Amino acid sequence: SPAATARLDLDGNPVEPLTICMIGAGGFIGSHLCEKLMAETRHVVLAVDVYCDKIRHLVDPAPPHLAGRISFHRLNIKNDSRLEGLIKMADLTINLAAICTPADYNTRPLDTIYSNFIDALPVVKYCSENSKRLIHFSTCEVYGKTIGSFLPKDHPLRKEPEFYVLKEDESPCIFGPIVKQRWSYACAKQLIERLIFAEGAENGLEFTIVRPFNWIGPRMDFIPGVDGPSEGVPRVLACFSNNLLRREPLKLVDGGQSQRTFVYIKDAIEAVVLMIENPARANGHIFNVGNPNNEVTVRELAQMMTEVYANVSGEAPLDEPMIDVSSSQFYGEGYDDSDKRIPDMTIINKQLGWNPKTPLKDLLETTLTYQHKTYKEAVRRQMSQASVS
Ligand code: NAD
Ligand code: UDP
Repeated sequence: SPAATARLDLDGNPVEPLTICMIGAGGFIGSHLCEKLMAETRHVVLAVDVYCDKIRHLVDPAPPHLAGRISFHRLNIKNDSRLEGLIKMADLTINLAAICTPADYNTRPLDTIYSNFIDALPVVKYCSENSKRLIHFSTCEVYGKTIGSFLPKDHPLRKEPEFYVLKEDESPCIFGPIVKQRWSYACAKQLIERLIFAEGAENGLEFTIVRPFNWIGPRMDFIPGVDGPSEGVPRVLACFSNNLLRREPLKLVDGGQSQRTFVYIKDAIEAVVLMIENPARANGHIFNVGNPNNEVTVRELAQMMTEVYANVSGEAPLDEPMIDVSSSQFYGEGYDDSDKRIPDMTIINKQLGWNPKTPLKDLLETTLTYQHKTYKEAVRRQMSQASVS
């Protein structure tokens, strides 16, 4: 199609096809990024991951129209000498690989720290040594808690934006004590950001750091007992979807008072494509990518998901759709939480002209329609087998 042949960057120059080494391409974000790049660009993707279920439709085998455009490389970046060759072969490396589910941060802190810091080191090193551009995925969690969260509960300054809006180049990173192992992830991500920034400053590495703010949509995480372990705890979208599919109450951790801003995965992916195709505007920057207009408490999210799911499935909601659980019951000792996450959008707006579009209600409708269609039957089968045995 013409769109796929003549792409222009934001300054009106043609975009040449790139070869992209995408590490973690088989995950939630990677699968959407692969789809977008295949559908709308001529870039070539070397997809690296330990599994490919979420991109099977693109790689196993690649459909004829994508011949030569995408290949899957099953490897663990912890210990595979093929990694450097793939990075050398590419113009750009995008690193998405990570342990990034909060249930793991306090229960598997070593794996979390190794995955988010140690395992990313060779990727940074190979990019720097071979003068290859790197787009590295960090997290909004590097901001930790807001400054306002330390003020007394009803203090008027809590309402002032400078006490809660999170800015890439100004806000501090505020984590809890070491015994609160929740922060092992944020701290590992912060240190890899600092290392990448230092490689830029001292050795000229061309980098972009992305801080996603709760990107959600189809294919996020797994439904426990269906396409993931029965005892596994995914992120909140999949936890609540699982509860709705099983007709059990949604569990609100510590009262569900924490606030989040959710952005639709397809909006967020557009920001990543802009970074890929506008290196002069993206290099050297850290970008918040989120939707400040989609803020809810976790309790409000549970209410909205309950209503939307009832419409989508035609099943009446439970009489008591939610229950409270303590974080120590739900996550175990050492859990802690970010209180509020409003991304400042000034930098991404100025550099890339990007803005999120999809309201929370709309993205929940699309996503829960997908969850219902994809999982309802499998959950029904699994529950009836479990009740027999
Ligand atoms: P995901 O878990 O779906 O994807 C990560 C992928 O990396 C998985 O497919 C996994 O198999 C792969 N991977 C992990 N370790 C690997 C290794 N050693 N070798 C090869 N592959 C490996 O998570 P996601 O939501 O797609 O997140 C991608 C990145 O974005 C992560 O770095 C995460 O920290 C960051 N992030 C995402 C969000 C969000 O809202 N989804 C928020 C903050 C940060
Ligand atoms: N949460 C919840 N019930 C669940 C799962 C998560 O109340 O079943 C809460 C969790 O404590 C946090 C928020 O939902 O306050 C978002 O959690 P998520 O795992 O999506 O990741 P986070 O935004 O904390 O990185």
